[in-house]
Amino acid sequence: MKKFVFIIFCFIISVIYSAAQKTENIIIITTDGFRWQEVFKGMDSTIANNSNYYEGDSSYIFKTYWDNDETARRKKLMPFLWSTIDYHGQIYGNRFLGNKVNNANPYWFSYPGYSEIMTGFADTTINSNDFPANHNITVMEFFNQQAKLKGKVAAFGAWDAFDRILNEKRSGIPVINAFDMTGGKNPNANERLINAMLKDSYKPFGEVECLDVFTHYAALEYLKTKKPKVLYISYGETDEWAHHAMYKSYLNAAKQVDDWIKQIWTFIQSDPQYKNKTSLFITTDHGRGDINKNQWTDHGQDVEDASQIWFAVMGPEIAAKGEMKNSMQLYQDQFAQTFAQLMGYTYKEKHPISPAIKSVSGK
Ligand SMILES: [Zn+2]
Repeated sequence: MKKFVFIIFCFIISVIYSAAQKTENIIIITTDGFRWQEVFKGMDSTIANNSNYYEGDSSYIFKTYWDNDETARRKKLMPFLWSTIDYHGQIYGNRFLGNKVNNANPYWFSYPGYSEIMTGFADTTINSNDFPANHNITVMEFFNQQAKLKGKVAAFGAWDAFDRILNEKRSGIPVINAFDMTGGKNPNANERLINAMLKDSYKPFGEVECLDVFTHYAALEYLKTKKPKVLYISYGETDEWAHHAMYKSYLNAAKQVDDWIKQIWTFIQSDPQYKNKTSLFITTDHGRGDINKNQWTDHGQDVEDASQIWFAVMGPEIAAKGEMKNSMQLYQDQFAQTFAQLMGYTYKEKHPISPAIKSVSGK
């Protein structure tokens, strides 16, 4: 009888344990400076009607992305976000409904934003995109220090600052960014082709940033062959085309990122290591200005709305709530601990770390 009670006890404990921790892998994706306005309302007709922004082809933008109905319109721009993630996950940052997400840092440009995402801390000493290697230990580095995760953490970024933001040297995490070759010392056939095309590619952003297509396919190949438990992918074109005042390209870049997320998710759900054991977290480093002030192309401290951001999340522990419609105020410095909690860890370092987002992590 005692033995039977013990078996029942063990069974209950294992049920509780498995219910508590299903996420064994996490994929974090950012698309640089992509506005919450387009996420929740789709293309903006005022911008698309302005000859300074439509790249000589306003009709293409309307034909591809317009719908009078706002819900249908945003789905045209980000079909995967507004179908699968809306159905299975949570989407935060619709300020029209009072659901607010902001940078906690006061700068509203990239290095401080990415550092805030990855450290859970708005470190005001990090005040430049040229800032040297991050002195804070990021949640990526923390993951790489955990016995179960060591050597299974990797990052891919279009912009060459990620070597410094994630402190590649100290952290020991492979950070493949900008024109770094992928595949290490023994690249496979796909990686050799990606490397050759990257080297010969058009370089509209100079040597500091490559086109997203190379970052994406290098990361996807790594995911399929190296099977990391923690993967970060940072796309950059949404920010670049916005700075270039190229609205058509900005929208096309966002739509492409949405489709790549779908590709990643489709692979995840077809692979036994990842299927129903992987959380996906998608966000941006900062917002941008408003078209009413003619500032949609820009961001930074002097651009009023540029701290306004958004995020989306989906995974086995995450309640399917779709678009979050209740009023709340969240900050970017809550993301890092949320990543850790989703993976079953508590991220602790010397610097202060903001608490996780409860409605996501349940903790
Ligand atoms: Zn920028």
